[in-house]
Amino acid sequence: MDLEFSNEEKAFRLEVREFIDARLPAETRRKVIGDRPLAKAEIVEWQRMLNERRWATPSWPKEYGGPGWNAVEKYIFLDELHQSGAPEPLSFNVAMLGPVLIKYGTEKQKRRFLPRLAKLDDWWCQGFSEPGAGSDLASLTTQARREGEHYIVNGQKIWQGMGHWADWGFFLVRTDPQAPKKQAGITFLLIDMKSPGVSLSPIWTIDGRHEVNSVFLDDVKVPIENRVGEENQGWTYAKYLLSNERTNIARVGLTRRILGKTRRAATTNGLLETPLFKAKLARIEIMLDAVEMLQLQILAGQMRSNEADPRSSLLKLKSVEVRQAASELLMEASGNQGLSMTSFEAGQRPPVDEGDEGWSASAVCFNSRGASIYGGSNEVQRNIVAQTLLDLGRG
Ligand SMILES: Cc1cc2nc3c(=O)[nH]c(=O)nc-3n(C[C@H](O)[C@H](O)[C@H](O)COP(=O)(O)OP(=O)(O)OC[C@H]3O[C@@H](n4cnc5c(N)ncnc54)[C@H](O)[C@@H]3O)c2cc1C
Repeated sequence: MDLEFSNEEKAFRLEVREFIDARLPAETRRKVIGDRPLAKAEIVEWQRMLNERRWATPSWPKEYGGPGWNAVEKYIFLDELHQSGAPEPLSFNVAMLGPVLIKYGTEKQKRRFLPRLAKLDDWWCQGFSEPGAGSDLASLTTQARREGEHYIVNGQKIWQGMGHWADWGFFLVRTDPQAPKKQAGITFLLIDMKSPGVSLSPIWTIDGRHEVNSVFLDDVKVPIENRVGEENQGWTYAKYLLSNERTNIARVGLTRRILGKTRRAATTNGLLETPLFKAKLARIEIMLDAVEMLQLQILAGQMRSNEADPRSSLLKLKSVEVRQAASELLMEASGNQGLSMTSFEAGQRPPVDEGDEGWSASAVCFNSRGASIYGGSNEVQRNIVAQTLLDLGRG
């Protein structure tokens, strides 16, 4: 088996790297490398630069404004972004909703929304989870009842990533409470976050950041034309979206960047000379290589069939385990400095200019903890792997 990239692929990687070097604003790169939060305007500015070359939508076909890349090109592109400190295109827009609209949306929805998703004219958030429906997402209770040409939506969602920046949200709502199977009564709606009756409250996380929110929907009027696909068939579209979300969470290049930081810190303080530390680092690097191979296989399969791939659960699980192991090793390599974030209580924002490497190590470590939960928790991914890939636990 030849695991080397071809000369063409290496040339493509160089092209991406040169573009990033030429166009990525220095301040944006500094913040990403230093694990500092970016302003919305910085993310939008960069996505628009990518979109000028059709690079903001790496997995979209050419006819919808994508670059028409194969699996390896898409992989190389994202890997270069992550490793070089460039923000990736907003995944809610281009990795989650875009492919759903391309596969299941009406022509009118495609024309209306796809160009704006790519250009980040509209920032989207994901309204799936509820206080009583996370892992068991199909138990969701947010209700939508038909009234003329509208749905009237009532309920509460939770954990909406960057919802406070969102112009629009894609939501799962219950349209048939009497359906024989709970999965059968769910509909996929596009909701304008400026609609009367939509409100948000922030949730502060242990890394001191405001990324997630609760969203409240109180008699929100949603035109029927904002429904994706058929009424009560939303579960099918959600499964497709979640499969893409899980593949996207892998972020091998990001883990490589964390390992690069770890190596630099351990070189400076001499830790890299110790056999135990060296062995830990090598183990994580080998696991990461295996995750990279799995991701390439899944991407290749998706490009061929465009169907949900159950191996995305395995990829999500292993890639998150490797990233968390890498970020814990970074903390270890950072020594006492790595503890500096622990002086902040949850809900308290750390000073923006807290500039030492240790701050960054603990921020990376704490932030990576959420990855075992979002996109479907690791335990649930293990259940899916057992049932769909290993054929265990049925009947
Ligand atoms: C940082 C972050 C960002 C998020 N962003 C979004 C977002 O943008 N939009 C959105 O809709 N949601 C988002 N989520 C929500 C996320 O998808 C849910 O938190 C997740 O699905 C788990 O649901 P829950 O929190 O209700 O936990 P629960 O489902 O209550 O699970 C609690 C624990 O029980 C375990 N468990 C549950 N069921 C089983 C089972 N059958 N077998 C074994 N163990 C089980 C879980 O693994 C977990 O450890 C985000 C979450 C986080 C942490």
